[in-house]
Amino acid sequence: MDLDQTISALHSAFVAQLDRASTLEAIEAVRVEALGRKGKLSEISKNFGKLPPEERKTAGARLNQVKQDLEARLEARKADLQSTALDAQLESEWLDLTAPAPGPRPGSLHPVTQVQREIEDLFVSLGFTVLDGPEVETEFYNFDALNIPADHPARDMQDTFWLKDGRLLRTHTSPVQVRGLEKLGPPLKMIAPGRVFRNEEVDPSHEHTFYQLEGMMVDRDVSVAHLIYFMKTLLSAVFHRDVTVRLRPGFFPFVEPGFELDIQCIICAGKGCPVCKQSGWVELLPCGLVNPAVLRYSGVDPEQWNGFAFGLGLTRLAMMRYGIDDIRLFSSGDLRFLRQF
Ligand SMILES: [Zn+2]
Repeated sequence: MDLDQTISALHSAFVAQLDRASTLEAIEAVRVEALGRKGKLSEISKNFGKLPPEERKTAGARLNQVKQDLEARLEARKADLQSTALDAQLESEWLDLTAPAPGPRPGSLHPVTQVQREIEDLFVSLGFTVLDGPEVETEFYNFDALNIPADHPARDMQDTFWLKDGRLLRTHTSPVQVRGLEKLGPPLKMIAPGRVFRNEEVDPSHEHTFYQLEGMMVDRDVSVAHLIYFMKTLLSAVFHRDVTVRLRPGFFPFVEPGFELDIQCIICAGKGCPVCKQSGWVELLPCGLVNPAVLRYSGVDPEQWNGFAFGLGLTRLAMMRYGIDDIRLFSSGDLRFLRQF
């Protein structure tokens, strides 16, 4: 094979390699092998010294022609590959601005809100008024006016978030009883749903922020029978079925006599679980006849009026209703949880 044929063969081989090169790295490898300082074509030119001058001139011209051709092909192939990559990127990032929007994501009310609204509807149908009260309360409304003296355990500093100015985050919705009576006077049938705060150790059944629903009826000759009637109506409406309840005597400064109404744990059907602390029962609401002292603090004459009151754990009720065994889920903001309602 003479020199010219050798050069032509190398040329064809490199052109074929270049056609197969599908990455910039592969193209660069071809360039180094063909045109690099130690490349195949340079090797050939090293032997030119042995050639007669006439042949050397022809071979040199031929070699330069091949080098130029390969250089042009290398550049063209590189540009080709880059534009393919750009096309692919454009295709993958393509956005149709004329496509219709997916529309608003269907949301839903928080499970506690759903239970709250249902109970509001029920009590409104029974002639009750729905009242609201401040979440930042004074010591007077949160404690004193509810007949909770300064030495009562409910005033324990550990239990309450105090503000620097002496006010506090209300620990229950009961202050609205006093505010409601002050503003509207007797006779009064009211409920007050809302957010309350406790400086609690957080665990599956305790949260620092949760919801209660206060209820009160003040009229003439209100008795425990009234109280039991409304509580039964409330619970059968909320659970849409018969639930087992028990009434125990309980001490709460703002009622006299006071009761603790327990509901048999719906999550474990009374067998025992973390929510009911393995007891099978869940304290659902304290209730009783309004303590005359509270009426007096509210500017109402206890000789003329009396009433019943109850405080419902709205969050706890939602847990029972939906079989949720961890109270922390409610305020976790976890959409996987919330989208189930
Ligand atoms: Zn249980």
